[in-house]
Amino acid sequence: MNRHAFLDHVETELARADRHVAGFALLFIDVDEFKQINDVLGHAAGDEYLRLTAARLAAHLRAGDLLCRWGSDEFIVLALDLEPEAGPAASLAQSVAFSLAEVLAQPVKVADQEVQLNASIGIALYPGDGKDAAELIQRAELAMSRAKQAGRNQIHFYRPEMQSDAARRMTLGRELRQALAAKQFLLYYQPQVDAAGRLIGAEALVRWHHPERGLVSPGEFIPLAEELGLIGSLGEWVLADGVAWLGKLNGAAQALPMLSVNVSARQFHEAGFAERCLAVLRHAGISPERVELEVTESLLLADIDGALAKIGALREAGFGFAVDDFGTGYSSLAYLKRLPVQKLKIDRSFVQDVHRDEKNAAIVRTIIALAKNLGMQTIAEGAERREEVDFLIEAGCDAFQGYYFGKPLASDEFIRRWLTAAPQ
Ligand code: C2E
Ligand code: CA
Ligand code: CA
Repeated sequence: MNRHAFLDHVETELARADRHVAGFALLFIDVDEFKQINDVLGHAAGDEYLRLTAARLAAHLRAGDLLCRWGSDEFIVLALDLEPEAGPAASLAQSVAFSLAEVLAQPVKVADQEVQLNASIGIALYPGDGKDAAELIQRAELAMSRAKQAGRNQIHFYRPEMQSDAARRMTLGRELRQALAAKQFLLYYQPQVDAAGRLIGAEALVRWHHPERGLVSPGEFIPLAEELGLIGSLGEWVLADGVAWLGKLNGAAQALPMLSVNVSARQFHEAGFAERCLAVLRHAGISPERVELEVTESLLLADIDGALAKIGALREAGFGFAVDDFGTGYSSLAYLKRLPVQKLKIDRSFVQDVHRDEKNAAIVRTIIALAKNLGMQTIAEGAERREEVDFLIEAGCDAFQGYYFGKPLASDEFIRRWLTAAPQ
């Protein structure tokens, strides 16, 4: 059924539901990663896959339900004759969605290849979630995009907060684009110390000085910058601003030995990343030996050989590498073995309460032993108390970063607190 005919049907069903005091659900189905089929197997295969998918959905509808091919890889199912109350209607709609998701997840043969894709599904209910066809479709689609954002292959119901969330994200995204041009970002620096409490470096942590909202934390805007493809330029700015600062500090009473800079996976995978890093440091007149790039294990999820080659080239030039949030991600020891990094950064979740949480203690000891055996160093992040630090020193951890030693500070404060006093 095409869009036009489908909209007519929805309107008819609206009127019918009102007359019979019934309800219905609109399931917005979007195939995850569909583009891959087009890219890898070609457009003819992509079309064939969608035809098969439509047929599979149609074959599994409940009697009387309707199917519409809404967009290229989007389908809408109208599940009719539900209770008017949201509770029972939702549980039936959910079981319909589950069974359709299961049907779609079955592998199919396309262009002589087995193809298996999942789908993200958003659900809007009538009468609760909207008053007309357009509103219901828009809301089911919004719920579907939330399912995608939450990691795909999920079923989400529409909730009213999704409207304001989506509006807020759109505004934030627009402002984020402008913020780069308007130079609204600044760096905070958090000290890193050795077991004797001596300053060995600092991590640059970006902040957004929003004209109305004040300082916005990176947890809020980094994921958005990644999604909008802005992380490359933002990350490059962080590196440039950080090393320019490092250069200025060479004139201070005490220079800062090392600067750690976060690099997100998406930024790292961009073409020309290594060349741009080198150019930025050359421009600042800073040796790459004084810069450590913090990357996460997720870097290795795609294009492993390319990633290893990139890290190798940057290591060759002198850059240091640390694996950030170590132990929380996709840790394959086989890859770790091949990874030319010299530091593991023990995630805060393991450091917390390490002196009295036996499991954390075991994990931290294991990471330190693993690092030692691979010839790598360890730095613990998020150390907040003396007892945690004592445990970590005892366990042989090389370096520390956390509120116990110092919070991230603006440049001036960092200099005052850490670089003008006599060496401690
Ligand atoms: P991260 O790289 O794991 O950075 C450490 C975060 O933990 C920082 O939060 C820091 O303020 C916080 N922290 C440090 N010590 C303690 C402690 O003792 N207790 C507690 N409770 N927290 C502590 P922040 O600055 O909000 O940064 C959050 C995340 O944002 C960073 O996590 C990093 O993933 C990302 N980020 C920050 N700056 C950049 C950047 O320039 N580029 C990229 N790609 N990501 C960045
Ligand atoms: Ca970090
Ligand atoms: Ca971290």
